[in-house]
Amino acid sequence: MLKDHSWEDIAAAFEKARTRQPALSELLGFYERLLKEQHATTVKLGPIPTDEAHLRDRIGKGKSLLSREEFPLDLVSAGALLWSLCRLAKERGDSVRAGVEEIESALGSGTLHLQELLHGTVSEEGYAFAIADQLALDPELLNTLAEASVRPGIQAWAKTVGSFLDNDRWLKPTCPICGSEPKFAELRGQELAASRYLHCGFCGWAWPVRRLGCPFCENKDHNRLQTLIIENHLQSKLEVCDVCRRYLKLVDNKEFIGLIPEVEVLASPHLDLAAMERGYH
Ligand SMILES: [Zn+2]
Ligand SMILES: [Zn+2]
Repeated sequence: MLKDHSWEDIAAAFEKARTRQPALSELLGFYERLLKEQHATTVKLGPIPTDEAHLRDRIGKGKSLLSREEFPLDLVSAGALLWSLCRLAKERGDSVRAGVEEIESALGSGTLHLQELLHGTVSEEGYAFAIADQLALDPELLNTLAEASVRPGIQAWAKTVGSFLDNDRWLKPTCPICGSEPKFAELRGQELAASRYLHCGFCGWAWPVRRLGCPFCENKDHNRLQTLIIENHLQSKLEVCDVCRRYLKLVDNKEFIGLIPEVEVLASPHLDLAAMERGYH
């Protein structure tokens, strides 16, 4: 999770990634400014959205703690972040600028309702895409901005309710906090004691799982699971499953201690391309 690291460490990780891959300088510069805004965001947390007994009951039954729609949203910080990110995105060149200006104008005129956009983004996967289609806005751009705006709040809540959890006993491929699929994996620890962690695509929580196995279809047949190294990029590898054809990036914090997985994932778009070229999604 972003707030697990100091801003200085995150900035240093971006600097290293840029040195490694100068061709990605502009993109990484943008991501760095975006993460800096998110990292600096202070979220106002209210009372826990459900009572403690209910949370413990869910844990006891092996269920995830909160559903997406139960995550409270601090509209003030998320709204302010959205406007800041619009400003940042406009620095990325004419075509992005035009797309952001359309979004700003839709927000200004009330055609796009800020509060509904942010609430919808938290409670429903793909909400921003659907709204963008209706209003003829750039779907990818609106989704990126909306998701990035609510993320600090979601992560702050995940951290709060995560304290009720016995993280090491979960072992399932979906997130113990919110039930979502993982976005990437990480190897942590040394030699034989190293563990594989999955990082949630929605709330950012990380939890340990077995070393071998596809988190999407639970295939455990090692003949149908592969780890691919692409273009000698060793910090992150690709884990692919030949049963469901899904892929996951694996950030190697075992060999390269001190990597910040969130930065490594952003700094390896060529791994996504390589996976897709090979027919994985
Ligand atoms: Zn989660
Ligand atoms: Zn699979």
